[in-house]
Amino acid sequence: MKYIMLDLEWDSAYYPPEKQFINQILQIGAVKLNERLEIIDTFEETIRSDFSKRVTGRFAKLTGITSEIMRNGIPLHEAVKRYNEWAGKDTITMTWSDSDLYSIKRNEEMLLHDQLHFAIERYLDLQKFVQGEMRLTGYTDKNQISLAGAAEYFGIDTEDLVLHTAGDDSRLSVALLKHCYQPERFAALVRDTADPEFYKRLRFKPYPLSNIKDPLIQKEKLIFQCDRCGQTAVRCNAWKYHNRWFAANFKCPACGRKFNGRVSFIKTYDNVKVRRKICECKPKKRTVVEKQDDVQSVPEKV
Ligand SMILES: [Zn+2]
Repeated sequence: MKYIMLDLEWDSAYYPPEKQFINQILQIGAVKLNERLEIIDTFEETIRSDFSKRVTGRFAKLTGITSEIMRNGIPLHEAVKRYNEWAGKDTITMTWSDSDLYSIKRNEEMLLHDQLHFAIERYLDLQKFVQGEMRLTGYTDKNQISLAGAAEYFGIDTEDLVLHTAGDDSRLSVALLKHCYQPERFAALVRDTADPEFYKRLRFKPYPLSNIKDPLIQKEKLIFQCDRCGQTAVRCNAWKYHNRWFAANFKCPACGRKFNGRVSFIKTYDNVKVRRKICECKPKKRTVVEKQDDVQSVPEKV
């Protein structure tokens, strides 16, 4: 078995046949590793776009791939064929975050019309793996970390590397993999891309539930206990939804504490992620529109 560290450079371009923008792959870089994680082969191809003559300034600056270099590349289908021959069989492919994989799928569908696919069998999201290892050492930030950020965290020297070129990004990824490698935790994150669930999951975009009557919302998540005495609090007005959160005012029947209970429900591929918090009630300094809402939901008015 071999490991492949795959790194794509892609640039956003308007694709006329579909009347939308696409992150077109303009460079494929990869390194192949043996079971001892030693680099045994490298791959790099630059791709000539079929529909755009120029790359964006930002892309050229970041990657060093100018419009001229791009125009001297080879067509995407040719590059993918060469890549697949190079990659071979019995591999675990890694990329830094699964966004590369998402771009691959879009490019396969739109530009290769699903006639040709990247040879990716088993797959591991290296960012997820490395960030998991970082958490074990006390790292708490939940935002996705950059390759350079992770290298810095572990004190890996990047001075000799030119980042954001496909080859050197792969080499840095290998250094991180070696630094963090732990066989059981690694194996636990390897996925089989032949599993139909795999790409369904990849494409799924988590979204907030915005209707309080949504059957996916568990009723007990809407119950709040007083944060002072632990009694179940009574809700005083209707739930309001704003910016991913439902909010309502609560009052504790035991101690009289008033608070604002907030709860958010994010539908993910597998389940619903619930977040709850208790805030102080806002002082009555609101816009006219909100005030009207308040009046409608105050029962004493009747
Ligand atoms: Zn209380």
